[in-house]
Amino acid sequence: MRLPPGGVLRSGAMAEPVSRVMVLYTGGTIGMKKGPRGFEPIEGWFADKIAQQPQLHDPTQPRFTTYPSRSNRRIRYDIEPYSPPLDSANLALADWARFAGDVGRFYDDYDAFVIVHGTDTMAYTASALSFMLAGLTKPVILTGAQIPLEQLRNDALDNLLGALGIAGHYRIPEVGLYFHHKLLRGCRSTKVDAAGLDAFDSPNLPPLAEVGIDVEVRWNLVRSPELGGLQVHTQLSPHVAALRLYPGITRAILENFLRPPLEGLVLETFGSGNAPDRDDDLLGVLREASERGVVIVNVTQCLKGHVRASYAAGRAVLDAGVVPGADMTPEAALAKLAFLLGQGLSPDEVRALAGRSLRGELSEEIED
Ligand code: ASP
Repeated sequence: MRLPPGGVLRSGAMAEPVSRVMVLYTGGTIGMKKGPRGFEPIEGWFADKIAQQPQLHDPTQPRFTTYPSRSNRRIRYDIEPYSPPLDSANLALADWARFAGDVGRFYDDYDAFVIVHGTDTMAYTASALSFMLAGLTKPVILTGAQIPLEQLRNDALDNLLGALGIAGHYRIPEVGLYFHHKLLRGCRSTKVDAAGLDAFDSPNLPPLAEVGIDVEVRWNLVRSPELGGLQVHTQLSPHVAALRLYPGITRAILENFLRPPLEGLVLETFGSGNAPDRDDDLLGVLREASERGVVIVNVTQCLKGHVRASYAAGRAVLDAGVVPGADMTPEAALAKLAFLLGQGLSPDEVRALAGRSLRGELSEEIED
């Protein structure tokens, strides 16, 4: 059962016009310093540096309280620093479980959560948390930076203030990713630029919110909160993988990839979901693996668009037992498989759910 869509937190709507936000600092460029081997996160440095930022503190208020916003709301935040802070390239499933667990642990004490994270795997974590945190009624927003806070000109402060502002003012009951003035649905997001400041996009869904002079929230896209309370799912299957098809891939390589212990594969196919069907060898390998219980989900390797069976080469993939993943990102498809396979479901149950929208990660009604 769902509640009506969320809304703006207005001063007076709560007992006092202060929103409480928990900031989980996990690492990433935002809190890195240059060392002899390049940028690395430094223990304790991020929280100290934040404490020195005048824009983030009203000196007339308790520590870590912002100035009032245009709608006269302050944000009081706490920082929970992870030890050690990590480059997000090092994160694994156990780290996602820890982030989800911490949101659960602090859930009743805060109005919203900001997870400060490296940009490299932020879209994976945002996707995973979308599935792991069921029944959200509060915002959980990931952010980070391409230029560390230690540099004079950086995007760290802007991204952090933006994420805090959205988290503290709008009841968006979703896992989001805030970067460069945009709030994206987490399980629709992908990193599109290794160097630019506008580093993330959600190519198949407009941003949930855009921050300019005004903040424009697209409430028609925002999911409604679910009744029933938060459920934190930390069981994930590590036996999932992604394979990007390429011209000339051989039967031997595909067979090796699909060997046990693999339970789920995201197959990144050409264009609208096509794979080579000129000889039956490759399709036979996919079919045999599906029959053995491996769940294979088809997503396009194009940045935008969705898989469909408009070509014979696409139809052949479906006939081999592969689930069409509609317009899911490869990140969302991988996280979703890890999540579903971690819930002890049968391969057929996972297949049925893989093609359905659980958190708004795919469009169920796509016109072919
Ligand atoms: N390598 C860094 C990380 O993902 C990159 C960044 O944060 O921008 O942690």
